[in-house]
Amino acid sequence: MIVAAALFTYAVLLCTLAPRLLRGADWTERAPRLGIVVWQVLGASALTAAVLAGLALTVPTVRVSADLAELLQACVMALTAQYASPGGAAAGAAGAVLALAVLGRVAWCAGATLLPIRGERREHRAVLDMVGRADPVRGVVVLDHDEPAAYCLPGRHRRTVITTGALHSLDEDQLAAVLAHEHAHQAERHDAVLAWAQTLSRAFPRIPLFRTAEMEIARLVEMRADDVAADRAGRLTTAAALLAVAGGHAPAVALAAGGSTAARRVRRLIEPHRPLSRARIAAGSLTAAVALAVPLLVIGGPAAAATQLNYCPDGTPAAQLTTMR
Ligand SMILES: [Zn+2]
Repeated sequence: MIVAAALFTYAVLLCTLAPRLLRGADWTERAPRLGIVVWQVLGASALTAAVLAGLALTVPTVRVSADLAELLQACVMALTAQYASPGGAAAGAAGAVLALAVLGRVAWCAGATLLPIRGERREHRAVLDMVGRADPVRGVVVLDHDEPAAYCLPGRHRRTVITTGALHSLDEDQLAAVLAHEHAHQAERHDAVLAWAQTLSRAFPRIPLFRTAEMEIARLVEMRADDVAADRAGRLTTAAALLAVAGGHAPAVALAAGGSTAARRVRRLIEPHRPLSRARIAAGSLTAAVALAVPLLVIGGPAAAATQLNYCPDGTPAAQLTTMR
């Protein structure tokens, strides 16, 4: 019970405190890739802790024996002992409901999020193949349209799209910056990152962590792609390119170079560049790794300790069992 309570408390604290502490943090804009990882890790850690809390209530842990027969006997006896009492059975049932509800909800929302996106992208790709013009030199599809716009349709059959309006508005360096931005989205699979964040936000819309993570990740993937473009073409050139295509429209299922965050991103590129130091990036990465490991350590620590003990039946069922709920 202590392990389950600890895991559940950890998940609640993560879901409520982390978004307050991290939302809009300056360091995430200075190291957007680390920021994306941290938001992803926090969500995964909270989810894992909630599921493990349910499992810890449902399945009692027994001391491990090298003798398989003894181990199985211990497992059966532990389960029998737990579910013999009304309180133990109720706790076990509640834990099973919690774990299954969390996993089922995530699986359902993943399907509800991904399938429509995949269908819309497939349809838009078919339209592009009909009305667009392939530019094999640049590796893009050119659309005849006066509005300057650039976007990519990620996935297995990816397309990078640019309008004739954008080709007329951008010089060669700016065009290279825009294309580098779109290629960064594709290379780092920002579509998958966003889809996972949308899935969790959709599954648990009232939980601040997942709601905030979706917004923050959407902002940070754009900044990360801007940084890749700036490495290729320079920060001021990238800012000018963003300004040129900022007003361009793109399908909702695409990743555009412009978009609603363009103004803030242009300011960020113009302001003096202050990348996070390697020491702070290492510290942030370590913190993320610890956050990811905490639920596993909480439930794995007592289990590991139990493996050091031999299970020796002494005829007293209560003495043979170590429950770690
Ligand atoms: Zn973008």
